[in-house]
Amino acid sequence: MSAPLRDHLVRGLFAPTGSRLFALFATLGARQARDSHGCAPTSAALLAQGLTAGALLAAALEKKLARINLQIGCDGPAGGLFIDAGTDGSFRGYIKNPQVYFTSGPGEPLAPERALGRKGYVSVLRDLGGGEIYRGMVELEACELSRDLERYFQSSEQVETAVQLSVLPEEGEPLGQVAGVLIQRLPGGDEAAVARARELLRGGALERGLAAGETATALFERLGFEGDGVEILADVPVEFRCSCSRDRAVRAILAMGLEEMRSLFAEVGEAKLACQFCGAKYHVAGPELLELIRAATDDSDPGD
Ligand SMILES: [Zn+2]
Repeated sequence: MSAPLRDHLVRGLFAPTGSRLFALFATLGARQARDSHGCAPTSAALLAQGLTAGALLAAALEKKLARINLQIGCDGPAGGLFIDAGTDGSFRGYIKNPQVYFTSGPGEPLAPERALGRKGYVSVLRDLGGGEIYRGMVELEACELSRDLERYFQSSEQVETAVQLSVLPEEGEPLGQVAGVLIQRLPGGDEAAVARARELLRGGALERGLAAGETATALFERLGFEGDGVEILADVPVEFRCSCSRDRAVRAILAMGLEEMRSLFAEVGEAKLACQFCGAKYHVAGPELLELIRAATDDSDPGD
């Protein structure tokens, strides 16, 4: 199966059972993240799952302009993940240890669960704008992101949810297809419909659909949301995108404070910064660093 040409999010509604449906296709963004961070295959697969989870969490927010931060702490070799995603369709993130690779043979699963380990937590910060911020946290229990995210929705948001985050390797490309599905009960909706979708997802429905190159509508049908009842509300592009810039890098240097800047200049003679989220590198050469120090000195000693 060839890779999809675009990353996108499909939002749907199934009125007969009162269910919200989301399908996210994020293959290109996951590969871009892997390449930016130089991830080995297992780290790349776990980061891909995390990015998919973050983008789905953002998609499920009710607000127009809102963001989520998904943080996963764990005792496994991955060390943890941090994902930032917004309702504008942007997502970015990093994994603490990008070098995890469990070789279980060609074509074998990349075992992202083993990279998580046995203990840890999933923490979600929802920033709905205007200072409206909510935090929720659950302990890792299944140590499988899809299952633990379902528990997060159940315990922190009290919403019946089915989640599947899928990384389907292909010949020569460990991130052959990266996609996720989130099914949620609307207020007054049918719990059994979500439970049924969950069972089908656990049985491999998403992976089979992806292998067959199915559209979101066909995937929803596989999960029991069939016929005229499915209403597609939106089909929008999503992408791995970072908000870092040279300006922000310079501001970060200024934020170090005068003392730190002076010792940086004395010891290193220049400043080199790398963005944690996308790996972009920013270089502030000696003369410019000196200029920043002068400007900061003038600001701090107006009488001089
Ligand atoms: Zn960046």
